[in-house]
Amino acid sequence: MDVLEPRGAAGGPAPQRAAMKAALFVGLEGTLVDEPRFGSAIGPIPYVPGAREALSTLARAGFHIVVVANQSGLALGRFSRWEFSRREAKLQQEMQQAGVELGPFVICPHAPGPDGRPACLCRLPAPGLLVRAARSRGLDMASSWIVGSTREEVEAGWRAGCRSVQLQAATCSAPPAAPASASTSVREATRRCADWTTVVHDLLTEPHRVQALP
Ligand SMILES: [Zn+2]
Repeated sequence: MDVLEPRGAAGGPAPQRAAMKAALFVGLEGTLVDEPRFGSAIGPIPYVPGAREALSTLARAGFHIVVVANQSGLALGRFSRWEFSRREAKLQQEMQQAGVELGPFVICPHAPGPDGRPACLCRLPAPGLLVRAARSRGLDMASSWIVGSTREEVEAGWRAGCRSVQLQAATCSAPPAAPASASTSVREATRRCADWTTVVHDLLTEPHRVQALP
């Protein structure tokens, strides 16, 4: 796992844009896996239908796949970093067999504040996780997408400067809604897809139909 922690001058100067890759940021629970608490789960991983095949196709198309997730269960003691890492390794291995190199998941391990709002800079919908991953992995945010099933994931994409897709395929999380405060341009910058097959179609055939936010 990759958590957002102070690292001094880590990263150095940002890579030149010409060498930067497009990312596909992917939520975890409800987007990639159809289970509510990934870190404390055991046994076979129940993937969201079509997720593995879709990520395999999109990786071959050149997207750098990055899993991003809030994991407040770490701060709340619901599971340990070791338990999370064990499940992370299992998922990475299974995805590798499908031709997808995921790399470390980029997670926020912190609990929200008493009011339920983020108490750190990295808990989604804050854009910290995405920005950090983009800098450290040389990713071009303007040509990147996030696919998520929650409002927090989609909003983090808007705030980080990439484009967003709401996936409504999974059963373990409630369908998200655009925040009432979101501007018209933000709402229009979010595609809504019923399944991963539609996500693949849209990203590969209509990548410029939805404009990135300035
Ligand atoms: Zn955090």
